Amino acid sequence: MTTTVLEPPATKHIFVPKRVFIEPAALEYELGRHLRDYFQTAGIPITVTGSHNRITGIPGKTAQEGFLEAKRTLVIGVRKGREFQTCKPSAHYQLPLVTSCPGKCEYCYLLTNLGKKPYLRIYVNIDEILDRAKAYIKEHLPRETVFEGAATSDPVPVERYTGALKQAIEFFGQQEHARFRFVTKFTDIDTLLAAKHNGRTRFRFSINAATVIKKFEHATPSMTERVAAAGKVATAGYPLGFLIAPIMIYDGWRQDYSELFAELDRVLKPDLRKDLTFELITHRFTRRAKQNIEEIFPNSQLDMNEEQRQFKYGQFGYGKYIYPKESMLEVRAHMEGLLQKYFPEAKVEYLV
Ligand code: SF4
Repeated sequence: MTTTVLEPPATKHIFVPKRVFIEPAALEYELGRHLRDYFQTAGIPITVTGSHNRITGIPGKTAQEGFLEAKRTLVIGVRKGREFQTCKPSAHYQLPLVTSCPGKCEYCYLLTNLGKKPYLRIYVNIDEILDRAKAYIKEHLPRETVFEGAATSDPVPVERYTGALKQAIEFFGQQEHARFRFVTKFTDIDTLLAAKHNGRTRFRFSINAATVIKKFEHATPSMTERVAAAGKVATAGYPLGFLIAPIMIYDGWRQDYSELFAELDRVLKPDLRKDLTFELITHRFTRRAKQNIEEIFPNSQLDMNEEQRQFKYGQFGYGKYIYPKESMLEVRAHMEGLLQKYFPEAKVEYLV
C-alpha cells in the first residue's frame, strides 16, 4: 500500500520555503533584491530562473513527491501580462498578487487548475499591478469595480515576505469606486490588522467543521485558530465573511457544524457582526478532480462515490457530482437553522 507523505502540522503554519527560484527581472525591483538577500541570509538555496511560468528542477519521482516538493518551492517573479483575468460572478477581476499556497487540502481547486507542480509564485512589481487595477477602475466609472485577491492562491502565507496584501488593502482603502475581497484558511494575519482598509476590503475566512479540517485540510490552521483570527479581523473593523466549504455529510456532521457555529457565536461578540456575510457550498467533485486527488492522496478518505451522487451537467461539457436532492435539502435545513439561530443579521450570499 502506498503511504501519503505529509509533514506533521506545523504549530504556527508559517511558510518557510525549502528552495527559492528568482527571475533576473525581479532583481530590478527593491522587493526582489530584499527577498534574495533575506533568503540567502536564511540559508535557503536560491536559483536564478528564466521564467516564473516554466520552472524546472523541482525534485520528485512520483506525482505525489512532485506535488509536496512544489508546495515548498517559492518562485519570485515579475507579473508581465497587462490584462487581469475576469472573476465572475463574485468580482470583476482577479488581482494577481500570488499563485498557489503551501496548504495541502485534498479537495483544493488548485489541484485541477495548477497542474502537478503547484509551486508558489509571488510578484515583486506590486505597484505596477495596482496601477493596472487603477486603470480598470477608471474604465468602469461610474460603476464600482470589485477585485478578488484569492482566485488562484491563498495569499496570506507569503504575506510575511511581500506585504502585497497589506499594500493592496491600503490601495483599495483609497479608492472610492472599487472594492477588494479575498479568502484565507491561514491565521498569520497580524500585519493586516493595522492596515488602513476604510471598510473597502471584505476579509473572508474559509472554515469548516473541525473534523473535516483535521481529516482533509493538511498543513492549515485548525477551526478554532481560524475563528480566533476572524475575531481579530472583525475587531480591526473589516467587513468580515465566512466561506463554509465544502460542507460534508458523514456520521455526526450535524453536531460538528453546530459546534462550528457555536464557536463563531462565542468569539464574535454582537458588535462585531454588523457587516457579516456567509457563503456555503456543499461537497462536489468532477471526474478529473477525483483522478487528481487519488493520484496525490492515494489514501484519501474523501467520499467520492459517484453512485451515491447526482450528476449535474456543467457549462463547458464537464459535469460534477453533487449530493442527491434529499441530502441537499437536509444540509439546507440544518445550515439555515444554524444561520437563523446564531446570525440572523448576516447576509447569506448563497447556499449551494
Ligand atoms: S488553503 Fe486553500 S488554496 Fe491552499 S491548499 Fe487549501 S484549499 Fe488550496
